[in-house]
Amino acid sequence: MMPINGQFEMMSLSYAELGSAISGQTLSFHHGKHLKAYVDNLNKALPGSGLEGLSLQEVVKRAEGGLFNNAGQVLNHTLYFQQFSPNVTALDAVPEFRDLIVRDFGSVEAFRTAFEQQGATLFGSGWVWLSADKEGKLVITQQKNAENPVTMGLTPLLTFDVWEHAYYLDHQNRRAEYLSALWPYVDWRVVADRL
Ligand code: MN
Repeated sequence: MMPINGQFEMMSLSYAELGSAISGQTLSFHHGKHLKAYVDNLNKALPGSGLEGLSLQEVVKRAEGGLFNNAGQVLNHTLYFQQFSPNVTALDAVPEFRDLIVRDFGSVEAFRTAFEQQGATLFGSGWVWLSADKEGKLVITQQKNAENPVTMGLTPLLTFDVWEHAYYLDHQNRRAEYLSALWPYVDWRVVADRL
């Protein structure tokens, strides 16, 4: 994502809710309030930072402090919201990507179990990620707060937000329930195209 006239724009949502996984109320706060604040704060902090004109990923790689936190959260939420859809391309319909998951995790079920487990056990606020390393191997990482795998030289492919604001209205303290409810809404064509 590139800035336009020095400002990053908020991505628009193409859906109003995702069944029992994410309600419209959660989306209205998560996208309309939380992401909006991160975008506004990023755009306030960018002028004079020396990072004007760079892509969002480059800002995240180089920024520190408050600028890093807000740029990271804009990048993280953009990847998160864009990967979901009520009308997905299923993983079986993207066999070249399904094969990579089976190669690196043994089975799709083993991957999902590991991904959910990493999301459920992340202490505090953060994100669980599926990324590709420089050799193209798929890896799962836990990242705290606003961190993104690009800072580790990885290519981010899929992420589940485990900040409480992502699930508390719908699932209260049941983070594992929220994580397992997201799978039917992951558009694997979007995920595979990030590779
Ligand atoms: Mn969030």
